[in-house]
Amino acid sequence: MLKSNTITCSFCGAGKSSVNLMVSGTDAHICDGCIVQAHEILLQENQPKKHTKPNFSLIKPTEMKRYLDQYIIGQDKAKRVISVAVYNHYKRLMQKAKEDEEISIEKSNIILAGETGTGKTLIAKTMAKILQVPFCIADATVLTEAGYVGEDVETVLSRLLQAADFDVELAERGIVYIDEIDKIARKSENPSITRDVSGEGVQQALLKLLEGTIVNVPPQGGRKHPDQRLISINTENILFICGGAFEGLERKIASRLNTRPLGFVGQQHAIGQSAEMIKENLFQHITPQDLKSYGLIPELIGRLPVLCSLDPLDRKALKSILTEPKNAIIKQYKKLFEMEKIKLQVTDDALEMIVDRAMELKVGARGLRSICESIMTDAMYEMPSRPEVKEFILDKPYIERQFTQERLIINHLRAA
Ligand code: ADP
Repeated sequence: MLKSNTITCSFCGAGKSSVNLMVSGTDAHICDGCIVQAHEILLQENQPKKHTKPNFSLIKPTEMKRYLDQYIIGQDKAKRVISVAVYNHYKRLMQKAKEDEEISIEKSNIILAGETGTGKTLIAKTMAKILQVPFCIADATVLTEAGYVGEDVETVLSRLLQAADFDVELAERGIVYIDEIDKIARKSENPSITRDVSGEGVQQALLKLLEGTIVNVPPQGGRKHPDQRLISINTENILFICGGAFEGLERKIASRLNTRPLGFVGQQHAIGQSAEMIKENLFQHITPQDLKSYGLIPELIGRLPVLCSLDPLDRKALKSILTEPKNAIIKQYKKLFEMEKIKLQVTDDALEMIVDRAMELKVGARGLRSICESIMTDAMYEMPSRPEVKEFILDKPYIERQFTQERLIINHLRAA
């Protein structure tokens, strides 16, 4: 029998005198601190594993589209196509859960082609919100073939894993949006003789992810190094949505269609199409062949079977984007002013002026926010210190003043 003052905890080594309680077994002892710790470990281990089965409810394409409509103006065709593709993707997951079917549904990765700022990313992001699956955005331009300066293609999955709070199973059903896929087009239509590590090389690397493979990813992203802990992710059920502006491609489509590209509107030309026909969005005629001629490798195009174009946004659409979506920019400003107990009113000609500016910038709806910010900054700076103000009317003269001020500053900077 051991003497009481030589008794120590068999786990942490603490002596009996330094702990509140020591429980003794036949030939081991445990202190109260270690009991508490062991209890916590037990609780964690016994917790039911999350998401062991696909636990999503299947939302019908019409419902998905209705939800998208609340946030995205126009782009009707794209919203329908994506709703169907995503619906089929999740039906495929459900089928996998049964695993006894003879017909296996293939993955329906999506490629979106359309001018910048037309809502490609927004559609993908909003879709992920409906489905409540992890979602991440990756930029194809920073990716390079493994071993070269830049990010490995696997970092895309590290980001998805982070978005899934490191729940591998959840990440394996997520959605990845790869932006600027057009920027990794190979330089010529033929396979390159020299190495093309940021173009064709990345396409080859992406191909594996899109096909469905098991990838070992460093959980924190960055480059892999030998003694790093890696997590295996199966990409078989991850939905990839790629987006690109494919600048210049409309000219190729136009020549294929034997018409003239945009920019020639109004001129009557040889084959006699009406201006209306020329003005239409040429991207709507995009085919996989066009993507190939732009420099995407056929294998990659084959792995992105759903090809969908987005319409350029016209004045009417831009104006609606300012006010209509559920979290429209103007609604957000109204909320910000409301918090200062100020009623914000935006006149119609003020909206028109903002739209004019956005049309000048040619970045689709992307410019709207920064234009509004530059108009509103002064007011947002002043208002909180002026409790007597109860209403702020944003009208054309106010915006004109803001724009002139801006121009004065720019002129001053140029002079200096
Ligand atoms: P891109 O097509 O370049 O991916 P984004 O989806 O990133 O464009 O759009 C940039 C921003 O412009 C979005 O965050 C959103 O605020 C706005 N936007 C673009 N298109 C639309 C649209 N069709 N409806 C509503 N907002 C839009």
